[in-house]
Amino acid sequence: MVGLLLDIDGVLVTSWRPLPGAVEALDALERQGVPRMFLTNTTSKSRHQIAESLSACGLRVGAEEILSAARLTAEFLGAEYPGRRVWVLNKGPIAEDMSGVEIVDGPDDAPEVIVLGGAGDGFTHDAMSRVLQMMLDGIPVVAMHRSMTWSTDDGIKIDTGVYLEGLEKAAGQSIRAIGKPSPIGFRSAVEVLGMEPTSVVMVGDDLHNDVLGAQASALRGVLVRTGKFRADELDRVLADEFGPVPDHVIDSVADLPDLVASLEI
Ligand SMILES: [Mg+2]
Repeated sequence: MVGLLLDIDGVLVTSWRPLPGAVEALDALERQGVPRMFLTNTTSKSRHQIAESLSACGLRVGAEEILSAARLTAEFLGAEYPGRRVWVLNKGPIAEDMSGVEIVDGPDDAPEVIVLGGAGDGFTHDAMSRVLQMMLDGIPVVAMHRSMTWSTDDGIKIDTGVYLEGLEKAAGQSIRAIGKPSPIGFRSAVEVLGMEPTSVVMVGDDLHNDVLGAQASALRGVLVRTGKFRADELDRVLADEFGPVPDHVIDSVADLPDLVASLEI
């Protein structure tokens, strides 16, 4: 039996509307008795809000099944920087997933750690300049994820990874990122499922962060041709005969129940 680790945005929904066949696919996988967790870099909603939004689409998912970048970051802060005062830049009400973290009001409230969540209106020139200054002053910066883009009904948006690369270059330091493709989330999900990594299949629309990231952590990877999938990006990866390639590519999550049924691990 394989276990499933599912990305949400671009696989099951876009702009919180279900993709064709997603509801039926989740139902079929449930009937097949496939263990599952959801691993998302979404930082615009709390886990409860994500579960509610999915349920409103007919996708029955419990908040406890969702591992979000915010929750993983809170766990990381508890282990690495316990009790520190944290300035969180993020678009979205994720405070409940950050329980246990002492969040300060802003850069003037004596933060000891900076957390960059999902990019949004708060990522201003002034805010990013303050982050850079604090980095140079020795304050650690942690990112919830390193995603470069996300797709919406209005088109593609730039995400936190675009800012991270600039900050890292300007400061001459690297920033630790917690969500996909960091191994932290994949390992955590594998642990919750109680399975071997090689028995867990990660399904995502992000070739590098979801699929190749999971494969680098010894999971299997399945790429869907929906959401932010780009054929030219896949072609470039397939053309490199020495580089990693996705284990499987399917048109959409609608094809997942058949693929899972055919996998023998
Ligand atoms: Mg996605």
